[in-house]
This record gives sequence, C-alpha cells and structure tokens, in this order.
Amino acid sequence: MSPEAVAKIRKAVIDKDQSEWAALLKVLGRDVIIELCLFHTQKAMKEHTKDISDKNTREATRSVLQKLVYAESEEKYDEYVKELESVAPRDQYEYFMKNWDNIREAWVSYEKLFLPNFGNNTTKRVENKNRHLKSLLDTHCSLSDTIGGILLSHKENKERSVAYKNYEAVSKETYVAGNEDPDVANILATCSTFSAKLILHQLSLMERPHKFTSDGETCKCTFFKSMALPCRHIFLSRHERGT
Ligand SMILES: [Zn+2]
Repeated sequence: MSPEAVAKIRKAVIDKDQSEWAALLKVLGRDVIIELCLFHTQKAMKEHTKDISDKNTREATRSVLQKLVYAESEEKYDEYVKELESVAPRDQYEYFMKNWDNIREAWVSYEKLFLPNFGNNTTKRVENKNRHLKSLLDTHCSLSDTIGGILLSHKENKERSVAYKNYEAVSKETYVAGNEDPDVANILATCSTFSAKLILHQLSLMERPHKFTSDGETCKCTFFKSMALPCRHIFLSRHERGT
C-alpha cells in the first residue's frame, strides 16, 4: 500500500489479536481508530461464557453482553455493566472488566460510530480474500505456479472490485417505475446505484416513528454515522422546514 493511502486510513476493523492491534498502531499511528469485528467480538464472548454451568445464568449473562455490544450511549453501557455484575458469576464479571471494559471504544456500538465504516463492521471481506489465497498455497504446488496464482488472484480481485464497479456505476442506472418526485429523480441522477438504493430506502422511512431528531445537516443515528449518507431523520427535518 502506498504511503499516501496509509496516511488516509482513519479506521481499521480487526479481530481481537493483540499483536495485530499493536502492529496497526505502529504502522498507522496512534490516532487511527481500531474497531473490533462484530462477529469476532460476539464469538469470543460466547466462547468465554460457555463454561457457566447453570443454563439460566449462562443465558442471562450472554443476553447482557449482547446488550453491551449494542449499547447506544454511555449511560446505557453503565446500566448494562451494573446488570452484568448482578447476573454474571463473579469470575465472568471480573474477566469482562479486565479484558473488555478497558477497550470498550473498540467494540461498543456508540463508541464505534464516530467514523463511517460503510457497513463494514466485520472482517468478513478480508477473510474471504485470505481464504482464496490459502487455497492457492498448496504444499504440492511449485513456487512459480503459486506466485502465478497469487498474481492472477490479485489481478482478478482488482478487476472485480475497482474496474467492474466503475463500469457498473457509469453503465447502469437505477429506475423507479412511474416516479414523479423531483427529489427521487435527483438522487437517481447523482448517486451510484448502491448509494441511491440506500438513500431511497431512508426516504421511504421518513414518515415512520423515529428515535432521532436531526438539524437537517447531520444526525446521530447509526445509518448516517456509518454510511455518511443522508438518513430518514435528515429528510424529515428538511421536509418539515420545506427545504
Ligand atoms: Zn438519522
């Protein structure tokens, strides 16, 4: 990766590997935000609680941990930690405080959402590529065949992810049958197919009951923070003000 590209990285999603974490901070600088993969976080919590022998206690503990992962605010987080202390076995609670509470900025929802992740809250995408690479690294394969395979795979990934998407963006248009709404037409004309679909879905939710109030420019909801696209609350605010 070029130094210019590295300098632009503000957030990285990893599993809970301490050496990888330390290496990323070293290469990317202390200011980079490290986010733990949602899937690995939940898997690790489930794994550690599997030794709780009483089924009800085990389920109650897991349920509070799940609530902690999705805590919407610091107040909620504190509330769930107290709940954990009351339902979880002592050793489980202490383990949580020692290993998870001190790094909560990396895995709790409300902490994670300060920077857009464009829907990437797991390491799934990287792991798919790694799996493909591992399938090429066969011990019976010659060095030249292996290198050839890796180069071909890299070329195919690049074509698929960049060139093909560029081609799609200019060659395909999204249509809404019978549309007469100028705002919808504007979204379709100016956004990629991927963004247009997401924005139109938000627009369709505008009138539904909502939890957040927007100033018409920004919003505190998950969609706006993770995707950096206008959300239903922004649309509602603008609609009410007639802008
Ligand atoms: Zn919003």
